[in-house]
Amino acid sequence: MTTPTQKPALTVYLASPRGFCAGVDRAVQIVEKALEKYGRPIYVRHEIVHNRFVVENLEAKGAIFVDELDQVPDGRPVIFSAHGVPKSIPAEAARRGLHSIDATCPLVAKVHKEAERHAAQNHQIILIGHAGHPEVIGTMGQVPEGRILLVENLEQAHTIQPDTPEALAYVTQTTLSVDETKDILEVLKARFPKISAPRRGDICFATTNRQSAVKALAPHCDAVWVIGAPNSSNSRRLVEVATKAGCPRSALLQGAHEIDWQQLEGVSVLGITAGASAPEILVKGVLAALVERYTLTIETPNARPETTAFKLPQELREDPQS
Ligand code: SF4
Repeated sequence: MTTPTQKPALTVYLASPRGFCAGVDRAVQIVEKALEKYGRPIYVRHEIVHNRFVVENLEAKGAIFVDELDQVPDGRPVIFSAHGVPKSIPAEAARRGLHSIDATCPLVAKVHKEAERHAAQNHQIILIGHAGHPEVIGTMGQVPEGRILLVENLEQAHTIQPDTPEALAYVTQTTLSVDETKDILEVLKARFPKISAPRRGDICFATTNRQSAVKALAPHCDAVWVIGAPNSSNSRRLVEVATKAGCPRSALLQGAHEIDWQQLEGVSVLGITAGASAPEILVKGVLAALVERYTLTIETPNARPETTAFKLPQELREDPQS
């Protein structure tokens, strides 16, 4: 029986891997190292990664986030975000003589190269992704206008009418739902059997691993919380994956300040994960808030930590020869 001073029990399953991926870690380090090397302020075109906490932290250190290059004064370095940029952006920076540093994740850059390769082979390209997402804008901007057709969902996969079905290729956004993309690809491959595929899938290892981890634990949870920002594609996908995997009480929250305690009514097992742009400190904040109200048992079933790390641009390495 629970006395007024006893806290109720709550088991937390922490997904692993969760949170920062290698590409986000690299992008944040690029801003920090550029501040050390070039001093304040450093300009960053667009949110370096989709997380307010990360952006505000970097702002406090001297980064200024802008929407467009014309907000960057002459003579100051500018960093391009992890999501990648259309070719026109570095070209404009070069025209103005700005020192630009590219924080595009190497796995997004790989998709850019694929799109260019297909365009060089005169393929029309289908990009599976979400309209308006910076990564999609960046990928579309690697090739001449009109060469890429965007497919956002299954319905569009059924109805899209490419001009050259016999010379067709596809690429995808890196942060999509693995399962939904598989369904879309089945439709496209059935309609266009000659469609050329990426040498390796475009959905990145970090997206795949985080989705697998939450998919495995969601059926054993009464609720799942995904820590991440509403504009973070991979975080939103984690909520969808957890819901489809059998936990309808799955929700996105940005951190402890957004906890809706009513969501925990009747919950004895809570799953927690975090999107690739959400730092671990936000997970710790949620756990600290939970421990105030519950007697917590924390488990990390089937943990599969990631070891991938991407090199910094040469100019920002401790040893530029490395
Ligand atoms: S989610 Fe994938 S593609 Fe995006 S930054 Fe992380 S590793 Fe790179």
